[in-house]
Amino acid sequence: MAGEPQDDCLFCKIVAGGIPATIVRETETTLAFRDINPQAPTHVLVIPKAHYENAAALAAGAPQIAADVLAETRAVAEGEGLESYRTVFNTGAGAGQTVWHAHAHVLGGRGLEWPPG
Ligand code: 5GP
Ligand code: ZN
Repeated sequence: MAGEPQDDCLFCKIVAGGIPATIVRETETTLAFRDINPQAPTHVLVIPKAHYENAAALAAGAPQIAADVLAETRAVAEGEGLESYRTVFNTGAGAGQTVWHAHAHVLGGRGLEWPPG
């Protein structure tokens, strides 16, 4: 069923505590933790605790939780003291998605080029 934990999903395992992560923030519906391979001084992932395969599936299936994820990206940036930061949802393999559980990247703490390439 939509939103149910998946046994083979890395981020569901992090939500369940089966794989360690450096947790930055947690709410009833979301978890924020540091990326294992940071691309900037701040690189935090904000995920819904419920399993949706990417941001598009999350927006379609649980728009309130999608809003919660977006609100948490702001809270992470504030907590990290970032005035400028980038929020990225890679959706689909062609856009660089490698983990099939919706997540927002929050990147900051260095200059960020636009367009990103
Ligand atoms: P994507 O490429 O799907 O947009 O982003 C997936 C992100 O998850 C990557 O930035 C990658 O470094 C991160 N990642 C992959 N495995 C782990 C892990 O086990 N722990 C953490 N904290 N991040 C991970
Ligand atoms: Zn999952």
